[in-house]
Amino acid sequence: MNETPLRVRAEIDLAALRSNVRALRARAPRAAFMAVVKADAYGHGMLPCARAALRAGATWLGTATPEEALALRAAGIGLDEARVLCWLWTPGGPWREAIEADIEVSAGALWALREAAAAARAAGRTARVQLKADTGLGRGGCQPADWPELVEESLKAEAEGTVRITGIWSHYACADEPGHPSIAAQSAAFAQAVAYAEDAGLRPDVRHIANSPATLTLPDAHYDLVRPGIAMYGISPSPELGSPADFGLRPVMTLAASLALVKHAPEGHGVSYGHHYATPADTTLGLVPVGYGDGLPRHASGRGPVLIGGKVRTVAGRIAMDQFVVDLDGDEPAPGDEALLFGPGDRGEPTAEDWAQAADTIAYEIVTRIGSRVPRVYVDE
Ligand SMILES: *Cc1c(COP(=O)(O)O)cnc(C)c1O
Repeated sequence: MNETPLRVRAEIDLAALRSNVRALRARAPRAAFMAVVKADAYGHGMLPCARAALRAGATWLGTATPEEALALRAAGIGLDEARVLCWLWTPGGPWREAIEADIEVSAGALWALREAAAAARAAGRTARVQLKADTGLGRGGCQPADWPELVEESLKAEAEGTVRITGIWSHYACADEPGHPSIAAQSAAFAQAVAYAEDAGLRPDVRHIANSPATLTLPDAHYDLVRPGIAMYGISPSPELGSPADFGLRPVMTLAASLALVKHAPEGHGVSYGHHYATPADTTLGLVPVGYGDGLPRHASGRGPVLIGGKVRTVAGRIAMDQFVVDLDGDEPAPGDEALLFGPGDRGEPTAEDWAQAADTIAYEIVTRIGSRVPRVYVDE
């Protein structure tokens, strides 16, 4: 695994990803599985993760942007392998390219349905459109008051042959907080939106609303398709819900660096920009060559954990663009020794969730922000 010494690497365990997909499928046995691979698969690398998820039984891939969806098709993932849905559109987007690439597009407003229909007409194809209902998240999607009009216009476009409504879908606001009153309200609003559309004559292939937390905790929300993202990468949607192991999941990404320097420093020595840390005694300092330029949150300065020489240490002072320092308490690991920033945790290393807590954020953001300067190394054991 460590043949090439690298400054820093993100090891991506594709066997863990496949096992996570199987564990999630077992929780939603009657639903199809859409692997959500937006934002470069939450920082894990879109194409290898998409292919691994398909091997483990996913039949759909989901992205936010049309560019992400087009990249999946351009890489050779055909309609025989995966249906692809992308949901984040802006006016003037690549509707025609998406339709010609057999990508399903989402419409949560009339303008989007009209752009999809116009592009389909121009291409001489039928656009496969999924209608998005805002059942209470208050983000994308069509409000209940506007739903009848969107359904009416969809029926007209279907009659014209430019559009087929292949899905009806929505998204939860608080599925990671079991018992939150918005969950039942959104579930009821979704059931109503589906019933209205079907009574009006639409015949969607799939109805779906379940993200990771709903896949894990809300069987009634599974419908025809579940759309897990974070859980597939082995991270719990929220620590209150349970640990990854509680759900049979294993973190997929390990962020490992090579210690760049170990040196003695006297008591009272300031460390890193602003001197927010001073050595409390004569000690040894270690330089970890990873910084916010690699996607580490600078907000974890003075708090982020890292395993070096069998002990978890804490970032001393500020995280800089390319590096940070740890107080090694007199220990003398060698330059080149491994510094494990986060991983599954079974070697005693911190987890992405630990970094999230150190930076007052969520683990989603920790893995997703690991940047393009960090090479991904795919392991498959
Ligand atoms: C990101 C996203 C998901 C996956 O959410 P997780 O919480 O990571 O499972 C599902 N559906 C939509 C619409 C999304 O944007």
